[in-house]
Amino acid sequence: MLVDSHCHLDRLDLTEHNGSLDAALAAARERGVGHFLCIGVSAENATTVKKLAERYSDVDCSVGIHPLDVNPGQITALDWLLKELDHPKVVAIGETGLDYHYEPEAAEVQQASFRLHLQAAAQTAKPVIVHTRGARADTLTLLREAQLAQGGVLHCFTEDWDMARAALDLGFYISISGIVTFRNADALRDVARQVPADRLLVETDSPYLAPIPYRGKPNLPQYVRDVAEFLAVLRGESYERFAQQTTENFKRLFTRAHVASHS
Ligand SMILES: [Zn+2]
Ligand SMILES: [Zn+2]
Repeated sequence: MLVDSHCHLDRLDLTEHNGSLDAALAAARERGVGHFLCIGVSAENATTVKKLAERYSDVDCSVGIHPLDVNPGQITALDWLLKELDHPKVVAIGETGLDYHYEPEAAEVQQASFRLHLQAAAQTAKPVIVHTRGARADTLTLLREAQLAQGGVLHCFTEDWDMARAALDLGFYISISGIVTFRNADALRDVARQVPADRLLVETDSPYLAPIPYRGKPNLPQYVRDVAEFLAVLRGESYERFAQQTTENFKRLFTRAHVASHS
């Protein structure tokens, strides 16, 4: 069985499944996907992702404010985060982090929000889901400051091996998305080859970034199978071994996730 460690189930384009999320999840299950982590990005969608996690036994969720969703005039309060995290199916914090690629002018407010999330992580011992783009040094500085015993994951990883190694040294996992299948992603393929087997996760980040051969179409959780098969070949492992190992990794990091033992 395989886990989609990062998907936005509340944002999927369900045209291919006649508008039915039930059908989209069923299609993924048919391809061996046995668990889904649905990611929070804002105060507005926190309730939505919690409802989805309540509705499906194989869906857990996270709650947090995406760096590009931080409202400069109104940084989320620690109290709000702690209240949202106090739910049995909220198994992680995020996504949070820093994205200077799209909003370099918002660096300071993003850092303030990221620090709050890390503080909530320290207080709840829940792992943190980190989005980082164009902000290597500051992301690592804040993670080092936080010294989280439970660690977390750098999701949809697109940075270089130096950054991956620094994150691994901090106890973090590296999650690879369908970007690894793109023609111009040689540097990322190098990273994906080198990440230790017990620290690797796989995700779709759907509805964004569909892997080849679906590139340009809406991404769906069922395509995590394609990303996993690609990574298994790249790393010279059998698909079965890759799926089993990344599922074990997911359970080790997200200790509160409700992953069925057999699927
Ligand atoms: Zn992200
Ligand atoms: Zn995401």
